[in-house]
Order: sequence, then C-alpha cells, then structure tokens
Amino acid sequence: MKVAVFGTRKYDRDSLSSAHKETKGVELTFLDPLLDKTTALLAEGHDAICIFVNDICDAEVLEQLHHHGIKYIALRCAGYNNVDLHTASRLGIKVTRVPSYAPEAVAEFAVGMMLTVVRKYHKSYNRVREGNFLLDGLLGFNLAGKTIGIIGTGKIGLITGRILSRGFGCTVIAYDPYPSAVADVYGLSYVKTLEELLRRSDIVSLHCPLTESTKYIINDETLALTKPGVILINTSRGGLIDSHALIRALKSGHLGAVGLDVYEREAAYFFADSSAKIIHDDVFARLLSFYNVFMSGHQAYLTEEALRNIADTTIQNLQELEATGTCTHLIGA
Ligand code: NAD
Repeated sequence: MKVAVFGTRKYDRDSLSSAHKETKGVELTFLDPLLDKTTALLAEGHDAICIFVNDICDAEVLEQLHHHGIKYIALRCAGYNNVDLHTASRLGIKVTRVPSYAPEAVAEFAVGMMLTVVRKYHKSYNRVREGNFLLDGLLGFNLAGKTIGIIGTGKIGLITGRILSRGFGCTVIAYDPYPSAVADVYGLSYVKTLEELLRRSDIVSLHCPLTESTKYIINDETLALTKPGVILINTSRGGLIDSHALIRALKSGHLGAVGLDVYEREAAYFFADSSAKIIHDDVFARLLSFYNVFMSGHQAYLTEEALRNIADTTIQNLQELEATGTCTHLIGA
C-alpha cells in the first residue's frame, strides 16, 4: 500500500520511519505541506493518505482524493473533526484514527499549563534572564483546596482529574453527557449540569471533542456563569471556544488567566515557523497580546511516548486495512 503522509515534520518522519522498520506492505511518501484543496493532487499514485489535526479534509478535498484513487485515510491523531465523514462514507473512503496514544501527555501538559498561568513561570523565566528579580506581579494561589471543573471525562479528562485530586488535593468536579463508571476511582465527582460546573469552578479545563454540539461550548453566556477571576484551560480543540467572547471576557477583566494549546483558526500558523511573518488574524494577535494569556502551539501531545504510539498504531491501521479492507480503529464503524 502506497501512503502519502501529509504535513510531516522531522519528528513525524523519524517516528513513522522507525515504526515502519518492523513492518511490511506499507510504503510511505513524506510530504511537507498540509492537505487542502491545493495540495490534494500530491496524493495521486497512492492508495491511502495519512493526515493530522490541521489537514483539511472537507467534501471538496475528499472528491479530489477519490478522483486520485485514494481508498483510505489514516488519521495520526484521535480527534476527527477535520474530516467530512459523511462524504468519505459516500465515496467509500475508509477513515481510521489513533484513539488513544498517550492521554498522560495531554493531561500532564494541561496541569502544567494551569501551574504556568497561576504561578507565572513564563514571566519569571524571562525576568530572571534579564536580571530582574522583583516578585511584583507574580502573585499566584495554591491549587490545593481549589475546585477544578473538567468538561469531558474521557481518557484525558480522567487523568487530568486524577493528577489534580490525588496529587494536588483539589476538589475535582466534572461534566460529561456520558459519565464514566470509574470517575470516582480517579477522584472526580460529577455535577448534573454544565452550568453548575461553570458556577463552582476556580479553574475550568476542556477535555471534550469538537463536535457540532460542543462548538463554542465556551461563549458569552457560559463565560458569564463562571466566577470572576476564573482560569480557563483549553488543550482540546480551538473551536470549543468562541474567541470573540473570550476576548470580551478578558478585556472586561472577568477572566483571571487563560491557557490555550489550541486556537480555532490555528491551521494558518501552527506547526510552522511564522516568526518572520505578519499575523493577519487580528483575533489571534489580540489573544497573544493579553498579559494573562499563555499560548502554546498544539504541543500537548508531543512526548516521545505519544509519538511512538501514534506511529505504531498508524502503521498497524494501514496494514490492517491493506490485509483485510477494514480496521479495528475505523471511524464510524
Ligand atoms: P475521549 O473520546 O476519550 O473523551 C472525550 C469525552 O468528552 C467523552 O467522555 C465524551 O462523552 C465527552 N463529551 C462529549 N461531548 C461532551 C459535552 N458536550 N460536554 C462534556 N463532555 C462531552 O477523548 P480524549 O482522548 O480524552 O481526548 C479529548 C480531546 O482532547 C480530543 O477530542 C482532542 O480534541 C483533544 N486532544 C488534544 C491534543 C493536543 O495535543 N492538544 C492531543 C490529543 C487529544
């Protein structure tokens, strides 16, 4: 099976090549560009494509891929909000994903992000390097005893809750329309409504997928329910937050601090060096300008363990598709 692997960086190529060494039947072509309607033709001559979170796989792109003979799409991530599954199914293109590669990576990063914005590591790092040892402006608060609200208690939400409850002594409350039977083992207790979670939490951390029903789950109305000074952490998907509403809540001083690993229009900038480019997205630029917003570039997953698991599962998915025409990790099966 010939596979065009879109949007690869060195760490993707290294991990996939290393997983590939022990396997047969899969031939990988590494491509730099992200998949979109202008790059889809690079898939010609391949049986499958492999993509990540910011590749665009909408109806128009899928029609092109179908035209070029693509039968399979292997996502090397868990979320699949960037693929039009309805069109893929209509065209007979099978889509697989890596359902769980290292939930600890994202959970640990989310907790790190909380500490960063609460204790201001990023500010002290810069100050001390410039010989400024003043502590003014670095006042934080203890996580111990605080109430943390986890929205979405899948693999990542549960581990985030466990670290915070068992490690830091926080009260961890959670909301999920499909509650986990083991949440109490992880030290989380469910509230009945999202409203209750938002009203009670000192820190809110997002761990649900981006779907039609979760798009802009954080908006003017839901932000208005939160406590003044609340901390908001998003390591899930940018589209969960209405960025305009977020800016309004930051400008009013309602939000204490915000940690973002994702942004709703991140594809234009993330995973590339834009340091010598003008940022044309004024919403993104405004978010970057707030003293109490800390942003990283979709980095939460990036650990050695996660890359290894992503590569292993992706290659296994492709091999299974090649051998059987179907896959354990087929989406929508
Ligand atoms: P998961 O599928 O195990 O869990 C998601 C949970 O969200 C489920 O329990 C589901 O019931 C719940 N949910 C669905 N709709 C909800 C709603 N309206 N309100 C509250 N909860 C709702 O997923 P996971 O592995 O824990 O990953 C969570 C998300 O993290 C992924 O969807 C992905 O977007 C994101 N992610 C980000 C990175 C990164 O590097 N930043 C890496 C991996 C995953």
